[in-house]
Amino acid sequence: MSNLLEDKVVIVTGAASGIGRAIAISAARHGAKAVLVSDIAELPREGGTPTTHEIEALGVATRFVQADVSRKAEVERLVDAAAAFGGVDVMVANAGITARDDGADVSEESYRRLMAVNLDGTLFSAQAAARQMKANGKAGSIVLMASMGGIVGAGMTVAYSTSKGGVVLMAKSLADALGPDGIRVNAVAPGTIDTHLLRTAAGIADAAEGFRQRTPLRRLGKPEEIGDAVVWLGSDMSSYVTGIALQVDGGLLAV
Ligand code: NAD
Repeated sequence: MSNLLEDKVVIVTGAASGIGRAIAISAARHGAKAVLVSDIAELPREGGTPTTHEIEALGVATRFVQADVSRKAEVERLVDAAAAFGGVDVMVANAGITARDDGADVSEESYRRLMAVNLDGTLFSAQAAARQMKANGKAGSIVLMASMGGIVGAGMTVAYSTSKGGVVLMAKSLADALGPDGIRVNAVAPGTIDTHLLRTAAGIADAAEGFRQRTPLRRLGKPEEIGDAVVWLGSDMSSYVTGIALQVDGGLLAV
């Protein structure tokens, strides 16, 4: 399709399903040298073949590495696996979970898990990648998965929106910390994207139709459209872009 990611070794977390799977396949289509697919489970939640099979079919080197991003040691093992391909150039910290809550009614267990995956897991992924990039003297790109819910508040997902707001500030802070080493850090803030997470999360699927009607483009986004945005942020085409939250939302937050 293009050579935007030529010679780049890409890691994508949460890449068995949905947006992460689309990002990993887009990276392969845009010429990546190798794509490390990581998730807590290898098979897509929506069914179908493992992501690595799709990437192999494109003739790109790939490997599945099982890792729960909330566990720092597992994330470090994932990044270590990139050494076999020459080290990571693009880290996409995509893994995330959601839960509907109205703020007053969230169990301690689901709150802690949500923060452990969405905040701890995103930071552990970025930091492990940055350490390896610095050790290899690489000017890499780190892309964090935020959400429109991290830019404007959402009363039905208070904990989730809080975590994604944290991801937006994490990208800005890491951009400041890592910029002197030539490492760029950006967030992507998807609007309503048609994935397993959207279709199955209790109470959120119902809200999706309302979001669609409010979206200027009058449709849900496709996972591949997030893949395209991540490819741009991962590539040298965005070489002077760092610390942003790129909204890919059909205009939803513009109105
Ligand atoms: P999804 O549920 O389809 O896929 C998420 C993947 O992450 C799954 O394969 C799951 O196994 C994996 N995962 C969950 N916990 C993990 C963990 N601890 N360690 C490793 N992997 C783990 O969801 P999606 O819609 O593709 O969402 C991907 C990202 O995009 C998430 O961060 C989500 O918050 C964000 N997002 C999605 C939407 C949307 O409308 N779908 C909108 C905004 C942001």
